[in-house]
Amino acid sequence: MQFIDLAAQQARIRSSIETRIQKVLDHGKYIMGPEVTELEAWLAGYVGVEHAISCASGTDALLMALMAHGVGPGHAVFTSPFTFIATAEVIRLLGGTPVFVDIEPATFNLDPDHLADEVDRLQERFPGLAAKGIIGVDIFGLPMDYGAVRQVADAQGLFIVEDAAQSFGGEFRGRRAGSLAPIGCTSFFPAKPMGAYGDGGAVFTDDAGLAGVMRSIRVHGQGGHKYDNVRIGINGRLDTLQAAVLLAKAEIFPEEIRSRQEVAARYTDALASRGRVIPPQVPDGVVSAWAQYSVLCADARHRSAVQERLKGEGIPTAIYYPIPLHLQTAFADLGYRKGDFPVSERCAERILSLPMHPYLNPEDQENIIRTILEGPVD
Ligand SMILES: *Cc1c(COP(=O)(O)O)cnc(C)c1O
Repeated sequence: MQFIDLAAQQARIRSSIETRIQKVLDHGKYIMGPEVTELEAWLAGYVGVEHAISCASGTDALLMALMAHGVGPGHAVFTSPFTFIATAEVIRLLGGTPVFVDIEPATFNLDPDHLADEVDRLQERFPGLAAKGIIGVDIFGLPMDYGAVRQVADAQGLFIVEDAAQSFGGEFRGRRAGSLAPIGCTSFFPAKPMGAYGDGGAVFTDDAGLAGVMRSIRVHGQGGHKYDNVRIGINGRLDTLQAAVLLAKAEIFPEEIRSRQEVAARYTDALASRGRVIPPQVPDGVVSAWAQYSVLCADARHRSAVQERLKGEGIPTAIYYPIPLHLQTAFADLGYRKGDFPVSERCAERILSLPMHPYLNPEDQENIIRTILEGPVD
């Protein structure tokens, strides 16, 4: 059994992928070819924004967003410690300081109440820093409540960036992930809900000014022509070949998102109020893209036992994320300590991700559920 079965998906769309790749080989425009433009049009329409700008990875998408907001030394950017390293890494790369905010136990997303507290305490924790912005993270594919965050942001004049690397395809009250903040960022890493056959990403915005700046940053801060450079940028382009692969996947993506809902519902129905494994919660009006289906075990020992039992049946699992970012060696200089963000720390000890993809068949899933529920109750 696969944790994410990309081969099943490929078998379904193989001929479309081959045709599209063939077309790229024929026209030979490997950089910024017509597939890139076509993909950006599809992305903008799907997400529901004016501007979709493809780029080389989700990390570059976040970097471009922060560069467009002028993040640099002396700036504090608030974010969740319960996420992939890239979210906070880009802040540090630009010389800014990630200021962590603990998460909500129900959604694993940044807690708006804690956000207000951390903003108030900024001078205590990091004297001299200026509060600049917030990166919200839609962890495991579940869009967070940007409305609640916006109140704090507006009161303090902070920008908001949505890290939708995991939530592409998700929705919050009828609006698609990626469009929930003034800039949304996503990733096309192969294992994400919308995955290429290599690295890729995109930024989304309705703001023409920010879109222009990010387009320029994507290509070395380009100005009016190729050798006119008006700002410092990066080489952040998406390959034409990856755009071709993504266009083939776009054809079936909405259906895959629906299949993911069915797989998640089967897990949740079977696990809810039985045994000690707690299924993830999805608030009303929110659709998860189900990048991961992550359950909470009772504690670290219980998690090891569940994981071992599943492994014995040939069922792979994963732990996202075993170390919250405030306790990562890479951020040791920020001076955070164990105990600073208890909800994130407890989650890191208890979280366990089960196989999740649109092609998980009911029989395999039944076996996973049975193996989980067969365990000792205490
Ligand atoms: C995957 C991921 C990223 C980075 O995306 P890449 O395409 O791998 O660079 C950023 N944030 C989160 C939450 C992610 O899951």
